[in-house]
Amino acid sequence: MSQFDVTIIGSGPGGYVSAIRCAQLGFKTAIIEKYSTLGGTCLNVGCIPSKAMLASSHHYEELQHFADHGIEVSGEVKVNLQKMIDRKQAVVDQTCGGVKFLMDKNKIEVFEGVGSFESATSIKITKKDGSSEVIESKHTIIATGSKPSSLPFISIDKERVITSTEALKLPEVPKHLVIIGGGVIGIELGQVYLRLGAQVSVVEYMDRIIPGMDGALSKELTKVLKKQGMKFYTSHKVKEVTRKGNAVTVKADDAKGKELVLEGDYCLVAVGRRPYTDGLNVEKAGVQVNERGQVVVNDHLQTTASNIYAIGDVIRGAMLAHKAEEEGVLVAEYLAGQKPHIDYNLIPGVVYTWPEVAAVGKTEEQLKADGVQFKSGSFPFKALGRARAGGDIDGFVKILADAKTDEVLGVHMIGARCADLIAEAVTAMEFRASAEDISRMSHAHPTFAEAIKEAALAATDNRALHV
Ligand code: FAD
Repeated sequence: MSQFDVTIIGSGPGGYVSAIRCAQLGFKTAIIEKYSTLGGTCLNVGCIPSKAMLASSHHYEELQHFADHGIEVSGEVKVNLQKMIDRKQAVVDQTCGGVKFLMDKNKIEVFEGVGSFESATSIKITKKDGSSEVIESKHTIIATGSKPSSLPFISIDKERVITSTEALKLPEVPKHLVIIGGGVIGIELGQVYLRLGAQVSVVEYMDRIIPGMDGALSKELTKVLKKQGMKFYTSHKVKEVTRKGNAVTVKADDAKGKELVLEGDYCLVAVGRRPYTDGLNVEKAGVQVNERGQVVVNDHLQTTASNIYAIGDVIRGAMLAHKAEEEGVLVAEYLAGQKPHIDYNLIPGVVYTWPEVAAVGKTEEQLKADGVQFKSGSFPFKALGRARAGGDIDGFVKILADAKTDEVLGVHMIGARCADLIAEAVTAMEFRASAEDISRMSHAHPTFAEAIKEAALAATDNRALHV
């Protein structure tokens, strides 16, 4: 029977990164993945394919602004959706192949099959052909991720009533895509099809889209997307989704009980994701799962079985690839006797629409709820030379700093390239910078990053220079 120091179940960004770090630290490491490709949700049906589709649709949308730049395009410009999807798949295949290369390079043994616990130290791997083998492992890391969730009365048929997985490979551009859920996944995929010519309606239970983020970001993103043609029905509770042939009807009630009826040809259900432990037989290993389906862990990400750890979407916290990666590294280093630490407050969140939305730290709503005295400085991209030169003038950067100490408590931004700009804010906050620290650092001109300096100036003493 094969024996390992560490076995990781699940090859998503949490699992494969953890495997690499375990191998670097000298552990004999195995990884078990039930699918034939490595990389999990993120690489196969999540981050990477959605960003590929966003990139392709963004190119198409930009064509409409070519004339403003003095570029005349003659002849018909049209979308070949199948080609777009094929390109996306090529990107995915190449990226997943890269993970396989990294497993081989680090001498990590890869098992293809469903992993399930026989005991706290033995794991059975059941392969596609029904055969199985059992391996022994001193330590195991559960990294089985999550699956799309739904509402109890919705039947997802994967053709017309779909999840994000199907939305990444639709056979046609919908005429009217109704999206249930105004969170990150719904909004990103909504923008893809909006750009490709679909009518897109978003029905959201809360009173604003991207409800977990700072209210100012929700407001600005709603404004920009409305301008682009997306329709929003916030504070609406969906009560029925029915399909007849190619038509899907979504019924919802607003806060006063007034009924909304939307007729579409596709309905994307994007109401969140649920932790995934199906078939894992956690009870045989003494691993506890809570009422939300999450594997219960302590601060060291150790489960209720002392030699078994869990990371990523399957445990509490933000369902983000980079959070899963940090946790994967933390467990590997903890097993090696190191003292790793994650500051969950400094895990950035990003929405890859255009303009991009990004944030780190506390929102204004959280600071108010916690009774923290803070000051706020904002700077609009439209006042920035680089934004004006490129024509990307939507959005702003907002910095929240402690009223007394000036320490930066939260940075919230919406605009071009914010997904990358947020790294500066994370760095600053990791080193506990004050708003004045950021305002005194030289930022290259002309760049989008200057908006961060200006917002920091505004937060320091209301002394932004270019407004
Ligand atoms: P997963 O990536 O879910 O991987 C778990 C793996 O475990 C899967 O491959 C699964 O097959 C395998 N598995 C499960 N059970 C077993 C078993 N019993 N035996 C063997 N294998 C098993 N996050 C971001 O940070 N940025 C983004 O831009 C982003 N975009 C997204 C877009 C979409 C459309 C979606 C759906 C998600 C997106 N996410 C994004 C979220 C991100 O994909 C997840 O947070 C991330 O994949 C979680 O990583 P993980 O390692 O915990 O699990």
